[in-house]
Amino acid sequence: KASWLNRLKTGLSRTGQNFTSLFIGVKVDEDLFEELETALIMADTGVDAAVSLLKSLRARVKQERIEDAQQVKVVLREVLAAHLRPLEKTFALDRPYPVVTMLAGVNGAGKTTSIGKLARTFQNQGKKVLLAAGDTFRAAAREQLVEWGARNNVTVIAQDGGDPAAVAFDAVQSGKARGMGVVMIDTAGRLPTQLHLMEEIKKIKRVIGKADPTAPHEVLLVIDGNTGQNALAQIKAFDQAIGLTGLIVTKLDGTAKGGILAAVAAGAQGVRPIPVYWIGVGEGIEDLQPFVADEFAGAVLG
Ligand code: GDP
Repeated sequence: KASWLNRLKTGLSRTGQNFTSLFIGVKVDEDLFEELETALIMADTGVDAAVSLLKSLRARVKQERIEDAQQVKVVLREVLAAHLRPLEKTFALDRPYPVVTMLAGVNGAGKTTSIGKLARTFQNQGKKVLLAAGDTFRAAAREQLVEWGARNNVTVIAQDGGDPAAVAFDAVQSGKARGMGVVMIDTAGRLPTQLHLMEEIKKIKRVIGKADPTAPHEVLLVIDGNTGQNALAQIKAFDQAIGLTGLIVTKLDGTAKGGILAAVAAGAQGVRPIPVYWIGVGEGIEDLQPFVADEFAGAVLG
């Protein structure tokens, strides 16, 4: 556990605005608060979240008569964790099978990698997993998933070309027939501005509902943690199109922009505070970790 947490820490503190140094050998005064506010904004929390976090911090420092900068750091961690906590949610497996989960995101966000890691995680928890290669356009993407499935004993539904909605439909039916615990449906990468592709993903969701009227049970957006403020536009657009139930935020081992989660929690730019089920902190199988607000806040502050 320590190693991935360290990687998260190292990644998130790659800002040049190192929080750790801000607290060393300084007085607790308005200068410190200003610097902390700037550092939060640099970490992509957005201005509103930074201002609101600092307001809470100032109030607590005053009320508790804190005079030690290191103690301010402890309080800021608590304040940030409390702000992020509404995003904490466990992905439930103890519900009627199969849990039909659809994944969306832009190209390169880490969908396929995350699906692979999750399939293994669910298998380790004793669940049978079926994957659908919803990217019917790119043969390479499909083959990658099929090959991966063969190596890991995971059934993969794939189809050469054709309609991704049909692949998703088959996957749900097959998942029900074979008593699968989880059906994960990968989709081709798309940008919110590609309106025809946004229509396509709406259709995929609709057609999944024809195979099982209660499905999809989870609609996840995979976001590259390097995306920064633009992540908000992505979340909003995908949420409007397909109704998101959760986020996976990847590549937090190599970005200083992890503060974006504070912007999500604050509902910046009109996003709903959609839960973060997992964070990606590397390319290894163990590098997809549940999001824990307090750990994350600690890592942001270094
Ligand atoms: P997709 O296009 O959304 O399916 O993206 P991929 O799953 O193919 O991932 C794109 C690249 O990002 C690959 O090289 C992955 O190994 C890498 N990647 C995915 N998640 C993480 C992560 O959490 N950390 C790091 N460092 N790399 C990641």
